[in-house]
Amino acid sequence: MDTETSTTPMTAPSMTTSTTPAMMPRSRALATEAVHAGRDDLAALGLHAAPIDLSTTYPSYDSRGEAERIDAFAATGAKLDGPPVYARLDNPTTARFETALARLEGTASAVSFASGMAALTAVLLVRASMGLRHVVAVRPLYGCSDHLLGAGLLGTEVTWTDPAGIAEAIRPDTGLVMVETPANPTLAEVDIRAIAHACGSVPLLVDNTFATPVLQRPVEHGARIVLHSATKYLGGHGDVMGGVVACDEEFAARLRQVRFATGGVLHPMAGYLLLRGLATLPVRVRAASASAVELSRRLMADPRVARVHYPKLGGAMVSFEVYGDPHRVISAVRLITPAVSLGSVDTLIQHPASISHRIVDEGDRQASGVGDRLLRMSVGLEDVEDLWADLCQALSAQEAVGPSGDGRP
Ligand code: PLP
Repeated sequence: MDTETSTTPMTAPSMTTSTTPAMMPRSRALATEAVHAGRDDLAALGLHAAPIDLSTTYPSYDSRGEAERIDAFAATGAKLDGPPVYARLDNPTTARFETALARLEGTASAVSFASGMAALTAVLLVRASMGLRHVVAVRPLYGCSDHLLGAGLLGTEVTWTDPAGIAEAIRPDTGLVMVETPANPTLAEVDIRAIAHACGSVPLLVDNTFATPVLQRPVEHGARIVLHSATKYLGGHGDVMGGVVACDEEFAARLRQVRFATGGVLHPMAGYLLLRGLATLPVRVRAASASAVELSRRLMADPRVARVHYPKLGGAMVSFEVYGDPHRVISAVRLITPAVSLGSVDTLIQHPASISHRIVDEGDRQASGVGDRLLRMSVGLEDVEDLWADLCQALSAQEAVGPSGDGRP
């Protein structure tokens, strides 16, 4: 059996180190920020839970003053001071989530969007609006991110490279370098610091959806932009869709201008659920990661499994390749849910080649390690023995070709 696995126990990341100028100093530990950030004013308001403000518009009896504020917002993208104006400019509930996420990622600002894809779209539009349409990216990326970069929908031109080729791939019109680490779905990891160095003055975007700020804060290693599908671990319960970009205030201001112009705002109800999700993020990620470490160990020792992928960084995602038919394994699970997405309290399994990475050209998909026998599992909070029992019986459902049979990948 071949493995690409490290089961090094996770160490608690340092909470206060500041290694790059973009990094905001933090006085409270991550677990404390997760519970309190974005809520610091609640006691003064006489509240315990964050209020949900569903207003789309707000009364204003000073039309001239309001017009000036809207003009200033459109021109600069700076956060609105004073009362809100209209829900596409900002919203007090989603602003709480943005404040909290920025604190967790250690950035000056964060800007929320309706989904992870809306967030990536906004980043690309910011750069395109500056005439910088060329992107350098490392595969694999989430299938729709790969598609958005490569399909030319936003006029983006992409050069795919491995990490060692980044410096050479950068051109005068390169607006962005993009990586995912650990990557969806192979869990491949890259050295953020080395890549940030190779980027020079071109901003590095790290999709931190899989690691979350509990395991890795990319700006500490030199990234300028951190992207999340908030739909996953940040929400954590499979009931909210959102995206967020954590970055410096200069880039955040441009993102707010694009969001105002294009309208991909996060709904306040989603903002509330995401703020609530952040409070338990460290506990959820650590508990699910402990089970994922255990399951990856058992899968590695299982003769029905050809290869296990588990990141050195840790985390709650495990991918593995079977010798037989992966669809049979998916059809046989009973406790685990066969479903796309990840980061929920319950365990999900899916076949990337058919679902999350279906949109990627088959040759490119295979070349980046997303083979036809790969399964991706997002480990949830169930008891690990119950998960193993389900996985074990499901693995027996694959065709009985075995390690030495014809079905070897
Ligand atoms: N980034 C990663 C790593 C993802 O896995 C996903 C979705 O699965 C996205 C971005 C896109 O996020 P959303 O589905 O919230 O638009």
